[in-house]
Amino acid sequence: MRIARLLLPNGIHLAMAGSGTGEWRGFATAELPCGGEGLIQALAEGPSGLAALQTSLRSAPVLDTSAARWLPPLPTPGKILCIGLNYALHTKETDWQQPEHPNVFTRYAHTLVGHGEPLIRPRCSHALDFEGELACIIGRPGRHVSVLQALDHVAGYCIFNDASVRDVQRRTSQWTLGKNFPATGACGPWLVTADELPAGGAGLGLETWLNGERMQVGNTCDLIFDVATLVATLSMVMPLNPGDIIVTGTPAGVGFTRTPPVFMQPGDQVRVTIEGLGCLENGIADES
Ligand code: MG
Repeated sequence: MRIARLLLPNGIHLAMAGSGTGEWRGFATAELPCGGEGLIQALAEGPSGLAALQTSLRSAPVLDTSAARWLPPLPTPGKILCIGLNYALHTKETDWQQPEHPNVFTRYAHTLVGHGEPLIRPRCSHALDFEGELACIIGRPGRHVSVLQALDHVAGYCIFNDASVRDVQRRTSQWTLGKNFPATGACGPWLVTADELPAGGAGLGLETWLNGERMQVGNTCDLIFDVATLVATLSMVMPLNPGDIIVTGTPAGVGFTRTPPVFMQPGDQVRVTIEGLGCLENGIADES
């Protein structure tokens, strides 16, 4: 099942589509039995919660998505935990060393934009770079989760573009500032439930395209720390809650390591595709 949040002229809708269909059915979140919290509640309950949500949405009206704006699939994630340097070839193209443990930084919800919305190049920089990534979404809450049980806590996956303001990011060893400008984290277009993908989202081809040119080619089987390891490691430190997002890292081919460097410009179009998840496309605009 694919789950999306759509902004239509009559409000925000929670919508679902089966695999292999372009038909989206959904209710305005205000009309859902559990309101806007419906998705988070369903995620928290695991597969039975998602099955109940699916049953409810099956009877919903078909939505006209032609005028829809695609919102990030999770309304306000409590945590967005991002992993840096998680593909060996990407680390090699940079001047960083390969970390022996997951290299974690955080994003905040104000950075998120949905499919089709512009990524914003901030006033202070011209160095906005792309990073196509697999993101996993936590369902059942967990703390001190073992690697063996970690995937029971993953409700689904989506595509993420961890757009990075490189000059600000590279000023210091901590990356928080370069990764938290508003509207620099594209997330979507929808959540695909874990049952529709290989365990841990492994073995999925990933590509990033800038203005029709392929810039990144990778496969999630090359993650150094896989999804199960990331869930276990992060849950050793902090509770993971429904709707939390783990952004797993980007493969080689980013813009700042190229000669000459390639950065995204206003008017550009950037597209990230992941097998089984779809295509996340965003334009670039300057901060007003
Ligand atoms: Mg990244």
